[in-house]
Amino acid sequence: MMQSLQPDVLIAKSQHKSLKRLVADAFRRRDRVAPFLSAEVRRAALCDDAALPDDVVALHREVSFQLDRSPPTPYRILVFPADFNDPETQINILSPLGAALLGLRRGDVPADPTTKACAECLSVIPVAAKRCAFCTSQVS
Ligand SMILES: [Zn+2]
Repeated sequence: MMQSLQPDVLIAKSQHKSLKRLVADAFRRRDRVAPFLSAEVRRAALCDDAALPDDVVALHREVSFQLDRSPPTPYRILVFPADFNDPETQINILSPLGAALLGLRRGDVPADPTTKACAECLSVIPVAAKRCAFCTSQVS
């Protein structure tokens, strides 16, 4: 059996629609996180709201995480960009961190983005690309 390099992502059905709307809106506004959040939402497994395990990161839930050997972060709540107003207590779902944490379970290691958006033409390109394959502009 093929082993996925990325941890599984689990999303409650009631939040899936809002997330897809958010992704569509983010693409329209040319948000740079749109391709990554879109990929995370697309590969997510859906489950009934009541069946979402307590330790899965979801919108409106508190999340704390630990990178490498640094101490765990204080708990913050994952929110939609429209509700985001306090970085001390909240994490914007439409940010590289928010998108990476969505749907993970306790103990999972967040996936790194595998794609990014070209700033010129907004095409989705590999995260390591130095030049856009579509419009050939340099990307960082
Ligand atoms: Zn481009």
